[in-house]
Amino acid sequence: MFNNLSDKLDKALHVLKGHGSITEVNVAETLKEVRRALLDADVNFKIAKEFTNKVKEKALGQNVLTTLQPGQLMVKIVKDELTELMGGDAEGINLSGTPSIILMSGLQGSGKTTFSGKLANYLKNKKTKKPLLVACDVYRPAAIDQLHVVGDQIGVEVFSDRGNTDPVAISKAGIAHAKANGHNVVIIDTAGRLAVDEVMMTEISNIHKAIQPQETLFVVDSMTGQDAVNTAKTFNDVLNFDGVILTKLDGDTRGGAAISIKSVVNKPIKFIGTGEKMEAIDVFYPSRMADRILG
Ligand code: GDP
Repeated sequence: MFNNLSDKLDKALHVLKGHGSITEVNVAETLKEVRRALLDADVNFKIAKEFTNKVKEKALGQNVLTTLQPGQLMVKIVKDELTELMGGDAEGINLSGTPSIILMSGLQGSGKTTFSGKLANYLKNKKTKKPLLVACDVYRPAAIDQLHVVGDQIGVEVFSDRGNTDPVAISKAGIAHAKANGHNVVIIDTAGRLAVDEVMMTEISNIHKAIQPQETLFVVDSMTGQDAVNTAKTFNDVLNFDGVILTKLDGDTRGGAAISIKSVVNKPIKFIGTGEKMEAIDVFYPSRMADRILG
């Protein structure tokens, strides 16, 4: 995960990590390299620039050059800023409703259906939760089948209504089914498209208005870098979602989406997907991610 970025940051911070004397020139050179590493990771130019400016400000504020171990302090400042950029503290999901309704949104192929299953499995394993999965993709019968396969695999019931072409009606019927059958969490998997289009945005917005979920999650493929960030912005403008799910981190060597998405949409990354299996789900902890990236 993010190996390219880790290697480049490691190289950038190499001089500071050593024990030689550190000068203003070293620090400036290092920050330039850090910025280059972020740009190579597909972090937006403005964010990369702001990041290094903040690190510089903090370093000046803490009189880095006159401390006993300036290199270590600099590395700590970079790590703290990276944590902050990715969201500070971890944020859980809101499960307050009876049932709690979780709406999944995102483009086709982002990993929505897979993640819906992972989340259902994750909650089911918490013992107090009895989730219901609801299949609302009315365009692709295969998507409904896929959710049923996932549901069977994890032992979670799937509600679907083949032939019904109204996703709002299906989601409402799913919620009614959950209430009647003692499910305390409803996860609604919706239709995506290969790219943002008006029909999809109107549809997801209509579902959102009709069911008023406690939690609206936007699922996005981490490997798509700045595209992921731009798509997040579009969905957030329409849905004002509660959190981001970054999938396919296992295949992402660059990390640009993870690093920049929070500061662009101002919504936390809540979970990450790290593989195709149902168990490949993790709560996103910005500080742990920063530790991983910086080694
Ligand atoms: P949807 O169209 O948004 O519902 O996307 P799917 O859930 O069908 O996922 C698309 C593809 O991505 C499938 O082949 C999944 O197995 C794969 N996938 C989903 N999440 C992950 C992940 O975290 N890591 C990897 N490597 N593959 C994933």
